[in-house]
Amino acid sequence: MSQQRTTAEWRALDAAHHVHPFSDAHSLNRQGARVMTRADGIYLWDSDGNKIIDGMAGLWCVNIGYGRHDMTAAASRQMDELPFYNTFFKTTHPAVVELSALLAKVAPEGFNHVFYTNSGSESVDTMIRMVRRYWDVAGKPSKKTLIGRWNGYHGSTMGGASLGGMDYMHAQGGLPIPDMAHIEQPWWYKFGKDMSRDEFGLLAAGWLEDRILEIGPDNVAAFVGEPIQGAGGVIIPPDTYWPEIERICRKYDVLLVADEVICGFGRTGEWFGQQRFGFRPDIFTAAKGLTSGYLPMGAVFLNEKVAEGLAAGGDFNHGFTYSGHPVAAAVARANILALRDEGIIDRVRHDTGPYMQERWRQVFGQFDHVDDVRGVGLIQAFTLVKDKATRTLFPNWGETGLICRDIFFRNNLIMRACADHMVASPPLVMTRAQIDEMLGVAERCMTEFEETLL
Ligand code: PLP
Repeated sequence: MSQQRTTAEWRALDAAHHVHPFSDAHSLNRQGARVMTRADGIYLWDSDGNKIIDGMAGLWCVNIGYGRHDMTAAASRQMDELPFYNTFFKTTHPAVVELSALLAKVAPEGFNHVFYTNSGSESVDTMIRMVRRYWDVAGKPSKKTLIGRWNGYHGSTMGGASLGGMDYMHAQGGLPIPDMAHIEQPWWYKFGKDMSRDEFGLLAAGWLEDRILEIGPDNVAAFVGEPIQGAGGVIIPPDTYWPEIERICRKYDVLLVADEVICGFGRTGEWFGQQRFGFRPDIFTAAKGLTSGYLPMGAVFLNEKVAEGLAAGGDFNHGFTYSGHPVAAAVARANILALRDEGIIDRVRHDTGPYMQERWRQVFGQFDHVDDVRGVGLIQAFTLVKDKATRTLFPNWGETGLICRDIFFRNNLIMRACADHMVASPPLVMTRAQIDEMLGVAERCMTEFEETLL
């Protein structure tokens, strides 16, 4: 869209008519939204002409970077040919068939079946319905409870927000819905103080066993977790955690679900986070990197056991008008071909991921109020702390993170504050030179941030 208005005009119109997600309308409208007008590669430009480094790949999603003409070409071709048809009532179309076959090739072995949605939240709600339906069909209708984790994020719909462990979301709109339970997150820095990471991983997985026994294994349908908790602050579990979780789920006949909405499609340097952490779920949810954000699309992947179990029940009364939308499917396919054929994920695994992690530690490790500097592939974080020696966090958890984030934002670098965890998740096409550029800006911002604390 060509620039026809001034920034002030955009802001005024936005404030008058646009209700933003996750925002306090009054404070947003006082300040005015920043107006993003175009993007290319890892950069955005705002309506004042500022060039901004997008250290978050939009919302953890623009994995192949902005400005890809193969994506626009795929969308345009598909719009000309078949802009829409549904996949209800025994119909299909080539775009969704080709995408499904390709996804079966890049997904972990055994995941040959995929259901389409329009977002991560819809994928999670679809999964919740599938899990409960699966146990009904299996003749175990009492297995209804899904166990998630505190501070996990699984979207904003009724099911997703209930399964997620954000208490500020539960506090609005009568959540959680029934038969949702939560366990504590595997956050070694906070909960594992005197233990090795590996010891703590086993302890944290054990909290799942405790909860299953409390609820009763006959009532527990599934355990759901993000391989790395993203919005919860990039909480990277110890290597012992996921294999032990898998063992516990098998022991009590509980389905294991990975929410791969952030970790999927290369973020950790593997196609999926479950491959990085060495576990095999029964179901996994995806969105974001599936289309690199060029169009909305989500997916739920099923292993043979779940696919067959659901099929045995006949009709599954669930679906969306746009499940398997042809244009989104064509764009997703172009995106996956780019990720695969251009070696983008391999580069994250072998080159830019390790380089980012090394430089990230060098740069942030030197600051007095930064600790637990961490990352995998191209997802990384550090925590703002009052005192490193005693691992004391700042009072008013979350306030300091916002101060820090605003300094980055003013300096044209987008990073996110998840409470007092500062997080980055840039496009996977970021080069070594661009990593240096980003960390150069970040280093200056952190110096300014620490000065503001004095
Ligand atoms: N699941 C996870 C792990 C997410 O990070 C998100 C969004 O950030 C969602 C689900 C919800 O996805 P969406 O915002 O596309 O509904």
